[in-house]
Amino acid sequence: MNQYDYIIVGSGIAGLYTALLAKEQGSVLIITKGSIDDCNTKYAQGGIAAAIGRNDSPELHFKDTIAAGDGLCDEQAVRILVKEAPDCITNLVNFGVPFDTLDGEIALTMEAAHNVPRILHAGGDATGKHIEVTLGNRVRSSKIQVLEDCLATELLVEKERVSGIKALDCRTGSIEEFDCRFLILATGGAGQLFKFNTNSDIATGDGIALAFRAGAEIIDMEFFQFHPTALRLPGVTPFLISEAVRGEGGVLLNVDGHHFMPDYTPKADLAPRDIVARSTLDEMEKTGSDRVFIDVTHLPPYIITTRFPHIYRFCLDHGLDITKGLIPVAPAAHYMMGGVKTNIWGETNITGLFAVGETACTGVHGANRLASNSLLEAVVFSNRVVNRTTRETEISSTSQGTEVYHLLSQRRVSEIVPAPSLSVLQQLHWDKVGIIRNQESLTQAANILATWQKSLPQSADRPSHELSNLILSGQLITEAALLREESRGAHFRSDFPHSSPQWQRHITLVK
Ligand SMILES: Cc1cc2nc3c(=O)[nH]c(=O)nc-3n(C[C@H](O)[C@H](O)[C@H](O)COP(=O)(O)OP(=O)(O)OC[C@H]3O[C@@H](n4cnc5c(N)ncnc54)[C@H](O)[C@@H]3O)c2cc1C
Repeated sequence: MNQYDYIIVGSGIAGLYTALLAKEQGSVLIITKGSIDDCNTKYAQGGIAAAIGRNDSPELHFKDTIAAGDGLCDEQAVRILVKEAPDCITNLVNFGVPFDTLDGEIALTMEAAHNVPRILHAGGDATGKHIEVTLGNRVRSSKIQVLEDCLATELLVEKERVSGIKALDCRTGSIEEFDCRFLILATGGAGQLFKFNTNSDIATGDGIALAFRAGAEIIDMEFFQFHPTALRLPGVTPFLISEAVRGEGGVLLNVDGHHFMPDYTPKADLAPRDIVARSTLDEMEKTGSDRVFIDVTHLPPYIITTRFPHIYRFCLDHGLDITKGLIPVAPAAHYMMGGVKTNIWGETNITGLFAVGETACTGVHGANRLASNSLLEAVVFSNRVVNRTTRETEISSTSQGTEVYHLLSQRRVSEIVPAPSLSVLQQLHWDKVGIIRNQESLTQAANILATWQKSLPQSADRPSHELSNLILSGQLITEAALLREESRGAHFRSDFPHSSPQWQRHITLVK
């Protein structure tokens, strides 16, 4: 009986929230490639944005989101995001998410590029963990079926309608087929493409690759957000130092102790992420250092230990008391703005196939995501996906301001490229497709990726599937970055350092 109304791939916030709503409408199967709580969601620190404060409104939230998106947000999608946010927060509270409170009301903090405090948090800086645990427990105690260690490997499409999925049981190595009416990809991002990244191991672009191979449209892939402040300690993974740390008063210093952000922009430490990331990189180059520092030593220690208990503890475990010493940081790849193109109902161009969460591109982030809008996007659009599946009429996806390209197959294939491996791939993307790119670096990467793509053997286990998905996701990012001959939002071309009005449009890639 491998037949379900809904199959959801992934068990982060997008997968779990969708499943909890969908179970009211029919049978639900979640398949997830690790354990149920393997995901990026549980690492989210800062929080979730929603205009619920006294001095806030959906209109103000809309303005900040549009400003961060640098001319490429889908305004209709953003209006939906900010308007439906408060109801989704109420839903999360009803599911049991323990948001922090102050004087009996939900506590709100600032983050970069928000003009008012509107970030809800839980456990101080453990928002994602509380959301993941709460929703995961709800799913476990429901009738939703969950298959762990089960890796989606192929979407089954008949006559332009999705009919099911093939998946690998990672424990036995066997492949199974599952049929469904609605298939929802909630597979998260692709941060593992880059040598320095804040993401969990699962972020290997699987949903993008599966959807693309099945004929789905992929959009905005050139926009990958680099977070300016990931911990930079030898031998330690680039653990995120949340933007909320700067929101509470932390400042960035270079190795000479100079507070450098006011030299770059009036918004200083609270400028949008792409500006802080590039300024930080510039400052590292100028001072010949591989790091800068965040200073919070001027803040009362109790603020640090109560607002950021997780960050405080992590640093302390690595020999660093941040109430007394500077935090060494450097930029790291963080969030994929692009993804599987959807309309405002989470629908893709393949009937019955939906995408939600970081793997989807609903258009709300444009060229640059506003901090704490991604957890929100996941819940708002999960809700819309399930609402959509209860209606019969078909809605075609919008293609406004979009140019469609076929992924180039005629790249020069070379004999002399290194053998593909995760570490070589990550170094390649960091060096050639990173915070600052140009035609030469991107072309080199594109040629290597195309050569690997042609020579990859059939994937047989989880690591080989993931490597193959990363290579394809990397190709989509690199080719889109080559096409966009301008700089905008998170995409910076040193050979085209300014925005161009003629590029105020999207790049959609298809097979
Ligand atoms: C360190 C960090 C801090 C962050 N902080 C914030 C924040 O404060 N606020 C905010 O809004 N956002 C934040 N983000 C971003 C946000 O956490 C993510 O965008 C969001 O959690 C993504 O949720 P998701 O459900 O789409 O994907 P994920 O939570 O990544 O879940 C993806 C799921 O899909 C599964 N999966 C993937 N491929 C397959 C496959 N082939 N087969 C089966 N299963 C598969 C994975 O195992 C996983 O369960 C942060 C991200 C990171 C990394």
